[in-house]
Amino acid sequence: MRLLAFVIVWLAPVLAFPRLGLHEGYTRLVFDLEARTQYQLAQSPDTLTLRFSGIGVEAADVDVSSPQVASYQVVVAGNGATVFVRLKPNVEVKTALLDDGNRRRLVVDVLTRAPRPSPPVQAQPQPPRPRPQPRVVVIDPGHGGVDSGAVGYVVEKEVTLDLALRLRQLLQKEGIEVILTRSSDTHLSPDKATDLGLRAEMANSKRNLFISIHVNSAPNAAQGIETYYFGSTLDQSLLAQVIRENGGGELGQRLTREAQSVGERLVRDLIAQSNLKFSRQLAHYVQGALLEATGAVDRGVRQAPFYVIRNARIPAILVEVGFANHPVEGRRLQTNEYRQTLALALARGILRFLNNGE
Ligand SMILES: [Zn+2]
Repeated sequence: MRLLAFVIVWLAPVLAFPRLGLHEGYTRLVFDLEARTQYQLAQSPDTLTLRFSGIGVEAADVDVSSPQVASYQVVVAGNGATVFVRLKPNVEVKTALLDDGNRRRLVVDVLTRAPRPSPPVQAQPQPPRPRPQPRVVVIDPGHGGVDSGAVGYVVEKEVTLDLALRLRQLLQKEGIEVILTRSSDTHLSPDKATDLGLRAEMANSKRNLFISIHVNSAPNAAQGIETYYFGSTLDQSLLAQVIRENGGGELGQRLTREAQSVGERLVRDLIAQSNLKFSRQLAHYVQGALLEATGAVDRGVRQAPFYVIRNARIPAILVEVGFANHPVEGRRLQTNEYRQTLALALARGILRFLNNGE
């Protein structure tokens, strides 16, 4: 994985903000400032936050994966930007402002902290043990607010939120940090494309995995559970459902076309392919756990161009936990018992992946 990370860095544009240098023992971030630029620094154990005002830069989210820095994110707002640098354990930060009259730059070095001297009786110094990184799961309860999703014996947006809240509680008990894309009956934007885009952005490099929860519907008597990871598909029977989940109507068709073309490009993208391999693995763990717990019809693990997981940089799946309009399955989805069974199974699948899948 280290090699892949360097490839990402190498592909970064020349005028990046910050410019990044990987050196023996330290990672250097150089911020080129304008004459009017002001900045503030704040540091917590795992994040260095730099706030800049009076500067025009582009948003970025870069996986660094050096021994000292996990990643950085540039968030642009107004005429300024905030940069979050995610630090690895056992590092220290040194900064210097260099100003030679015509160029101003802020140099931030993140250094591996020297190991403490070992006690005299110990022959071999012990290497510092990095503390484990927190495990973070992003749960995306599909739809919400103005967008009800599928409606049958249950309303999709209501079931997905309930399952997400149950799943959050179960994962938190296991010491896992959970981020919900929504935690109440709301949309992220009344515009569906923006809404899906905002959810998709949460599948970035700082989170361990992303799971989008949905409820299916079909004009026939279909029932069962299926789990998707991203990919383009030639299966026409799948596309109607994908278009519906991608916003429906003309918009759903457009977003599905966009996602299809991302899928076609990914075939030649080695980093994306390696991430898809993990997504497929996660999909199998989750699908397996769901079937085990519910005895529902197995509709399989499949690939489809769902917009919300098209650019995921972490293992990402979309689960259809059942059919809202099926007379048996729809009614099962109404009950607390069945929802708890589903949430427990989702948690079990995720934990199996986190414990084995890396
Ligand atoms: Zn849905």
